[in-house]
Amino acid sequence: MKNYSFVPDVMFENALDIKPDFLIARGIRAVVLDIDNTLVTYGVAEPTDEVIAWIEALKEAGLGVAIASNNHAPRVELFNQKIGVFATCESKKPFAKSVKAACAHFGVEPEETAVIGDQIFTDVWCARNAGSLAILVKPIPYPENLFFKCKRVLEKPFIRAYRKKHSSEN
Ligand SMILES: [Mg+2]
Repeated sequence: MKNYSFVPDVMFENALDIKPDFLIARGIRAVVLDIDNTLVTYGVAEPTDEVIAWIEALKEAGLGVAIASNNHAPRVELFNQKIGVFATCESKKPFAKSVKAACAHFGVEPEETAVIGDQIFTDVWCARNAGSLAILVKPIPYPENLFFKCKRVLEKPFIRAYRKKHSSEN
């Protein structure tokens, strides 16, 4: 049955904590990464050395790496200069278009793909719409505006539900 839950499948503190082996063990062959507040904050134009090294490690493990941002082309293109991965800008997440494009690019199925991002109503929902694994990471700290603050409050019950579901495992 299709999963419509806003509760993420997996949560990590930071995207860089996600190891290639963890993804491969779950049958994942490609990842679709959010940029803003997932890999770097809004104000940072280029990936850090740590982000570049992490993406290289994913590629070396044989995983397809894509970025899918709702942000505009100049932001995405500049960010992608040093990593050169399959990228979509103005992706309109939570719609699944960018994930489907990445799947077609890498020749993988949506269920073999993990969507990694910091927002439930953008990234987790996008994973659901695509039928992919939904991995939520903690947003990189940033002085958020009121719109984001409201969204974070609305996200809380789903994060609590995840913690409750997985508390027995710890
Ligand atoms: Mg984001």
